Amino acid sequence: MDYSGSHVLVLGAGLSGIGVAHTLAKLGATVTLNDYKQIDFDQTESQRLAKSHIEVITGQQDFVLLDTATRVVVSPGISLEIPIIQEAKKRNIPVVGEVEIAYEVSKAPILGVTGTNGKTTTTSLLAEVLKEAKWDVYVGGNIGYSLSEQALAVPETGVLVAELSSYQLESIDKFRTKGAILLNVTPDHLLRHKTMERYQEAKENIFRNQELGDWTVLNFDSPIVADMAKRVKGHVLGISQERSVTDGAYFENNTCYAVMQGKAVPIITTKDIHIPGSHNIENILSVIALTYALGVDVEDIHQAIAKFHGVAHRLERIRTLHGVTYYNDSKATNTDSTIKALESFNSPLVLIAGGKDKMTDLEEMMELVKTNVKELILIGEAAQRFAEAAVKVGVPHIHRCESMEEAVSLSARIAADGDVVLLSPACASFDWYARFEDRGDHFRRLVERL
Ligand code: ADP
Repeated sequence: MDYSGSHVLVLGAGLSGIGVAHTLAKLGATVTLNDYKQIDFDQTESQRLAKSHIEVITGQQDFVLLDTATRVVVSPGISLEIPIIQEAKKRNIPVVGEVEIAYEVSKAPILGVTGTNGKTTTTSLLAEVLKEAKWDVYVGGNIGYSLSEQALAVPETGVLVAELSSYQLESIDKFRTKGAILLNVTPDHLLRHKTMERYQEAKENIFRNQELGDWTVLNFDSPIVADMAKRVKGHVLGISQERSVTDGAYFENNTCYAVMQGKAVPIITTKDIHIPGSHNIENILSVIALTYALGVDVEDIHQAIAKFHGVAHRLERIRTLHGVTYYNDSKATNTDSTIKALESFNSPLVLIAGGKDKMTDLEEMMELVKTNVKELILIGEAAQRFAEAAVKVGVPHIHRCESMEEAVSLSARIAADGDVVLLSPACASFDWYARFEDRGDHFRRLVERL
């Protein structure tokens, strides 16, 4: 696409917004980068923006910004319902998300991963398998690198691996994946998407524009996801831990199999897998299904999975002290991922949970806490509501702590030889921390100091 002569208004000056602003400026567009909040860029970024002739307007979001705009690009953090976007639509100015620009710019095929949980783990593993097979891999999206900048960098012979949140998928137009993985859809982010249907629709955008030769991996163990097969135009690859499939991957007798046209090939057994829990088997199966379909050698798939030890803050083992093993699962920002964490251990658990409340239903999680957790330590803004939900289902030992320091030292005092202490908050981190990584790092430092 020719961008010269276009004037793009980029909304949101975070990682994606800045990335797409630079990408479009490099391609000859006139770019205005806007954020309604006042943003103080660090010196390097300020210089970079100035050098690229990107006009930066922050601290206001007046409609005059639209007067010269031929197109609006929205960052994933921004709701499509804000006034300036509504006004742009009224004025017939096309509005797309950053991911759409990445698609326009990329010369290489895109492999996308989405789902409520497991995106980062699966995206990382997918990239590792392809690297093992000597593909020229570029990774971006929700995983901390701007997708559009990676899209500009990837050569025609490479591949762009994209972690895609529902927010990123909400605002696509022609965006097309050569291969897509859809892991699971459970309630999260309902504040923004309003209904489960709209959340699910956003996720389905990952395969909406696929063509006949493309691939979509669907988790057949999730009825909602399995049902999407009807709407997939490419080739469906199923994954299951409950039954065999004809195309995709399945798990049986501790072994992960890849399957094509009913012919199954063993790839790896659990003794060579180093990421715990059946949810991680789900992530592994989805990567096996897609990479096998793309023609990656079985030995390369096996090697990469066997070498993979997970991503920080996702059931990350920190240390064992006096027989107690500490795990950091700070990335568990919703009840579903905490449920998965609780199901991943056979040892008695001391669970540290709570944080910025997402106001989702707690009953199912608390029922599991009652059976799998011996001591529940609650922290953060959500502590009161979590405590009430725990009492309601009859969780026996509930503690409240006012800081992470207090929670970690209490956990060390009450845990016995053979126990696992698990930070898996089921909440966002914004009550006490800027990011979930900061919460996890803080927990890790405190555990290391014990
Ligand atoms: P995302 O990027 O989608 O947030 P992550 O890979 O960062 O996913 O994992 C987030 C949390 O969800 C972690 O606590 C992790 O243990 C848990 N998790 C990982 N994979 C799955 C899965 N397939 N289903 C449910 N929970 C998962």
